Amino acid sequence: TEVDFAHPVCAALELSEGAALPLTPGLPDAAFETDGQITKSPIRALTLAALAPRAGERLWDIGGGSGSVAIEWLRAHPACDAVSFEPRPDRAARIRANALAHGVDRLRVIEGRAPEALKAVPPPDAVFIGGGLSQDLLEVLRLTLSPGTRLVTNAVTLESEALLAAWQETLGGELLRIEVARAAPLGRKRGWKSAYPVVQWSVVL
Ligand code: SAH
Repeated sequence: TEVDFAHPVCAALELSEGAALPLTPGLPDAAFETDGQITKSPIRALTLAALAPRAGERLWDIGGGSGSVAIEWLRAHPACDAVSFEPRPDRAARIRANALAHGVDRLRVIEGRAPEALKAVPPPDAVFIGGGLSQDLLEVLRLTLSPGTRLVTNAVTLESEALLAAWQETLGGELLRIEVARAAPLGRKRGWKSAYPVVQWSVVL
C-alpha cells in the first residue's frame, strides 16, 4: 500500500514523497494522530522488543487507542498481520486513519471490547494488552490461547500492577519496571520530568 502523504500525520512529520521513517520501533509520538491515549515512544520501543515480531506473525493489540503498537508491529515485516480491538468508535476510526497514513491499511480494527470481541478472530502469535486489563481477560487468554503464544502487558495503576505481580507468581515470565524522565524547562533552567512508571509483564503461555 501507498503512504497517504496528505494525511495530517505526514504533514506534521514533514514527510513527503521519497522520505522514509526509520524502521526501528519507538517512532516519535507525533507520527501518530492521538487524543492522548498512546503508548509513549520509549515505552513503545521496549514493548515492541518484548513482543518480538517475526515474519508472518499475527498480533492482537487489545486496547488499540491510537493504534501505534499494532502499526509498529506491521512495519516490522510486510508479512506481519495485526488486529486491534478498540471499543470507542472515534478511536477505532483514528486507528484506521493512522494505519492508512503509515501504509499498513491491512491492520484489522475490531470495534468492540475484550474479552467478548476476541472470539471471531484468527488466533495470534503474540498479544499486547494496552487497555482493558482485568483478571477476567487474563483468564480468558490463558484458557483459549495456544501454548507458545507471547503475551505482553503494561500496567500503570497500582491495581493493575498488583494483578500482574500475582499472575507472574504463577505463570512466570519477566516483570520489568520502566521509569523514564525527559529533560524539560524548569523555570529558567531544566529538570527531569518523570512519566508514570510502567510495569511490563512478558510471558510465553
Ligand atoms: N497502546 C495504545 C494506547 C492504549 S490506551 C496506543 O499506543 O495507541 C487504552 C485503550 O484501551 C483505550 O483506547 C480504551 O478505549 C481501550 N479499552 C479499554 N477497555 C477495553 C477493553 N475491555 N477492550 C478493548 N479495549 C479497551
